[in-house]
Amino acid sequence: MCFCRPFELLTDHKKSEGVKKGSDPGHSFAAQNQKLDMAGNRTFTMIKPDAVKAGHIGNILQQINQAGFRIVAMKLTQMSSQKAGDFYAIHRERPFYQELVAFMSSGPIVAAILEKDNAVEEFRKLIGATDPAKADPGTIRARFAKSVGENAVHGSDSDDNAIVESNFHFAATERF
Ligand code: UDP
Ligand code: MG
Repeated sequence: MCFCRPFELLTDHKKSEGVKKGSDPGHSFAAQNQKLDMAGNRTFTMIKPDAVKAGHIGNILQQINQAGFRIVAMKLTQMSSQKAGDFYAIHRERPFYQELVAFMSSGPIVAAILEKDNAVEEFRKLIGATDPAKADPGTIRARFAKSVGENAVHGSDSDDNAIVESNFHFAATERF
């Protein structure tokens, strides 16, 4: 992990245990200012390696757009196992952690910041339950996920985590 850049400015996110601040590509005054833009109306998502591999990027983005989300930032990228481990650090004590990290670093993902009123909650509704077998019909996970582990998409679970996760993947200059 690189602690070579300052991230003291993000210390007010200490309560969010998931993503480690040293991984933040924004890590700056500009990144800190993103907080002001994001309160309540932005969330962070990843189209996971299973869905990318299966060719579902286009269909998932179409469903996201049709549900009224605006794409603020987006990239096709692959996380190293170190980076995936940091991203999911909040789950490190859970039995599926190693498997999750291996899966999430196994291939490219699409990372994106999405904007809509009440974005975190609205996006969680759009993706459906973690286990696709329990996800409501028509939700992204019901349509495209394979299993509880390989479940097609990530969605932030709180406004605080949406900010931390967005800063993990995007610098201020990558947001529009
Ligand atoms: N996960 C898993 N097994 C489980 C629960 C979760 O492999 O029993 C994976 C799955 O990919 C999930 C991720 O870990 O999306 C994070 O779990 P969380 O409980 O935060 O679910 P989410 O917020 O993604 O619905
Ligand atoms: Mg979660």
